[in-house]
Amino acid sequence: MSIIPLKGKAYDKILEDMESFRNQDADFIGGRTWSLVYHLSLEHDAFLKKAHNLYFSENALNPMAFQSLKRFEHEVVKMAADLLNGDENVVGTMTSGGTESCLLPVMAYRELARSKKRWGSKFTPEMIAPESIHVAWEKAAKYFNVKMVSIPLKDDFTGDVDILKKKINKNTIMIVASAPSYPHGVIDPIEDIGQIACEKNIPFHVDSCLGGFFLPFLEQIGYSIPTFDFRCKGVTSISADVHKYGFGAKGASILLYKNMAYLKHQFFIHQNWPGGVFASPALLGTRPGGPIAAAWAAMNAMGQQGYQEMAKKVMGTTKKLIQGIDAIQGLKVMGKPQMSVFAYTSTNPKIDIFAIGDVMEDKGWHIDRLQRPVGLHAMVTPAHEAVADQYLMDLKESLEFLKSHPDQASRGNAAMYGMIAHVPFRGLIKKQVQKMMEKMYGPDCEMPMNNNGKPSLPLRIGTGILKLISKRKF
Ligand SMILES: *Cc1c(COP(=O)(O)O)cnc(C)c1O
Repeated sequence: MSIIPLKGKAYDKILEDMESFRNQDADFIGGRTWSLVYHLSLEHDAFLKKAHNLYFSENALNPMAFQSLKRFEHEVVKMAADLLNGDENVVGTMTSGGTESCLLPVMAYRELARSKKRWGSKFTPEMIAPESIHVAWEKAAKYFNVKMVSIPLKDDFTGDVDILKKKINKNTIMIVASAPSYPHGVIDPIEDIGQIACEKNIPFHVDSCLGGFFLPFLEQIGYSIPTFDFRCKGVTSISADVHKYGFGAKGASILLYKNMAYLKHQFFIHQNWPGGVFASPALLGTRPGGPIAAAWAAMNAMGQQGYQEMAKKVMGTTKKLIQGIDAIQGLKVMGKPQMSVFAYTSTNPKIDIFAIGDVMEDKGWHIDRLQRPVGLHAMVTPAHEAVADQYLMDLKESLEFLKSHPDQASRGNAAMYGMIAHVPFRGLIKKQVQKMMEKMYGPDCEMPMNNNGKPSLPLRIGTGILKLISKRKF
């Protein structure tokens, strides 16, 4: 059992220990990760840390006490509104990240619908979104008791607008679509959906958590990008993460609304609390000053030109990777990715894409798996310029290796990922993951391990499901 040490330890000793705990962590500086960390440069990191530390103690919960933070937040919101072509009425808040920027609009639009009192006591709110929408929206639906109506994807991995239109009914409180989607990096038909949202007078959120600080700069340097921002009729809110391609510190996203008539439903005010009259603009109570200050610092340090250069460089690496993958016989990129995130899959029925993922992991890459349909995922950052050739070479080698070792495909993680992706009893998977979470967060903090002694989700889920299936009679 861990307890707080009776006598405090020396600062230096503690920091030394903490450094050493990093040994096993993923190497994002060397470009080995393809998600989770957006790393620009060590120099930029050092600057961000300074900016963050300047406001390390401050709390944006009370903007009257810390006017500096209110100013940062206001300017960040204004700069983002300008970037996304909003007019002077656009308002918004900073949030702790993409997830909070997805949670809040669902709550706000539900309250907006409720305020119209169209439903009486039979209020059963629904939201509509393509299947590729970020999972944070499913979380929002669950937290705020709103039914998620999922729209199937077309062959190009964008949401099917005709079906979307048919799903609108009197319970629809909002529509969400992505620019671009996290899994495949494609932009949903925002203009078409906006048109429908406008006709039916339904709020429409564009999730640009990933693209908000990337697509506008691609457009500025001459890429042809379909219009996805406030220029589209019907768009009532947009989210953009500063802690992704904005290259701010973690814990920073921006949530913009077309005007105060929408944002006002996000505010929480409680006038009767014995602790005092309470007002809060977003989800958190205490709001750390560091990420807000670092976001402001990052945007000012990058400048539009800095972001343009970053986007240009990252797109250069992305093109190289996409062309390289498409040139490998047996692999193909899924759909037509419109920025620096994409997925690819196997075109050889004898080669399991997840087996390729495993061999790539043996070679030291951290790779995310997609399902329904299956694929491997890549989010390209500036750190990948130096390793793109190596990545392509390793992919080729992995494929060759699997051709000569076909038995590998049915082993270990690949087999389990494959099964998880294809098993028809989706409830079983949920049950297994639930169990695993209870172990991981249980009194003994049990991490699921694969055969190599590395932490791994699929093996544990997979074996659990196999056990369950073997006990079942069909
Ligand atoms: C990353 C992401 C989110 C969630 O953001 P977090 O910062 O991870 O909470 C939501 N939507 C999209 C499109 C994203 O890429």
